[in-house]
Amino acid sequence: MRMKEDHMLNGQLKPAFNVQISTNRQFINNYTLHQTTTDTTTCIGHMEEFKALYDFYPNESIADAGYGSEDNYLYAREKGMNTFIKYNYFHKEQTRKWKTDPFRSSNFYYNQVLGCYYCPIGQQMRLVGKGKQQTKTGFEQEIHIYEAIRCQGCPLRFLCHKSRNNRRIEVNHRLNKLKAQEKEKLFSTEGLVLRSQRPQDVDATFGNLKNNKNFKRFLLKGKSKVEVELGLLAIAHNIAKVAS
Ligand code: SF4
Repeated sequence: MRMKEDHMLNGQLKPAFNVQISTNRQFINNYTLHQTTTDTTTCIGHMEEFKALYDFYPNESIADAGYGSEDNYLYAREKGMNTFIKYNYFHKEQTRKWKTDPFRSSNFYYNQVLGCYYCPIGQQMRLVGKGKQQTKTGFEQEIHIYEAIRCQGCPLRFLCHKSRNNRRIEVNHRLNKLKAQEKEKLFSTEGLVLRSQRPQDVDATFGNLKNNKNFKRFLLKGKSKVEVELGLLAIAHNIAKVAS
């Protein structure tokens, strides 16, 4: 993994585990180790570990944008969890620049009845194909492809795209719907309160372990041993919290 500790200042890759913890009022209630560099792919395994420990899934789950993916959203809904999980570009989407860019495909108008988009000049973009793509975890996504009828001669072309052909856009409708639902929850009163609590809860716990307790490196090697070490660390952290 690329580490924050970068003494050589060259972004060197180092062997590491991806540590995931869940907290509730700064108590660690679950921890898992993963051999993957991305957080997105750790979510389902982490939740299943929670279920194995407590025999239920959390009612609510709050996480940052690193966990927002189509498979994670669907999984949480299937298990009855109410999620407040941001997704890539959640913050960028709120900027004026993003919202007012007429050439950004996410800002194109979609006509649900006709099943087509309209480009900035008002031309229809028709469905020209559908395809499947797999994520790193093997999850299958359905992609719809839309194409403008005729870009040739369009006065806005130099602002719109660089392709020699007509402009094409790829859309994952299911993911867009899930993101819209999540966004509504994230901006609800409950969502705003929970979002403001998240950094005070889990980030503060990581901060306490890494900076206050100076635990920055595992002493043992191998996943099973490191899991034990992490478990002891979590127990010590929770006891210290009770004591204080
Ligand atoms: S270049 Fe094509 S897609 Fe872009 S505004 Fe013009 S007609 Fe529409």
